[in-house]
Amino acid sequence: VLITSLLTTLFIDVLLGNIKDLQAALKAQAITDPLTGAFNRRHMSQQLDRMMATLHDPSASNALLAIDLDLFKQVNDRLGHAAGDEALKAVVACMTGRIRRGDMLFRSGGEEFVLLLPRTSAADAARVAEDLRARIEQAELLPQVRLTVSIGVAMQRAVGTADEWVRAADLALYEAKRSGRNRVVAAAPAAP
Ligand code: GH3
Ligand code: MG
Ligand code: MG
Repeated sequence: VLITSLLTTLFIDVLLGNIKDLQAALKAQAITDPLTGAFNRRHMSQQLDRMMATLHDPSASNALLAIDLDLFKQVNDRLGHAAGDEALKAVVACMTGRIRRGDMLFRSGGEEFVLLLPRTSAADAARVAEDLRARIEQAELLPQVRLTVSIGVAMQRAVGTADEWVRAADLALYEAKRSGRNRVVAAAPAAP
């Protein structure tokens, strides 16, 4: 009887452990973009909303980068969609290798990413953005192709909602595209 109950306990332990692992895997899957391994768009909305809701400290300084691959349609057209997919993975790997623990990289759309930098000043955010831009430009991500990104930077303090925060970074990104691509543009700071 003792042996049986020991075995039963062991069996239940293993079963519960498996269910826990499975739950963790499902949870990770629900917030991850399957191609690149970056967080997905849904998780981005949740995290941004959470950040807006918990901004008690008015001096807290959180930054958001909107990152878009330059002329990426040409990469697909010249090398094919599969090579484009590889390039997207390589760009994410390149960025992930650079960012700090606590920073969060999301794939916000096809060839567009959002990098959330908690507790980061505007000057530091601009430095990170410029470093990422330069690294991607210099990395041999695809043979015979020079991949570059344009980046818009916006600070949370300058906005009232998560949507406004993303829009501010997108506007700066648009300016980076307009002024020649492969560059970083910071959104104007909030009016005093
Ligand atoms: P710009 O510098 O103005 O951003 O030019 P662009 O060509 O990058 O911009 P556009 O929005 O015209 O094209 C985006 C391209 O990204 C088109 C689409 O085929 C490609 N793309 C989006 N998602 C994926 C994906 O998951 N895999 C691949 N291979 N390509 C993708
Ligand atoms: Mg785009
Ligand atoms: Mg693009």
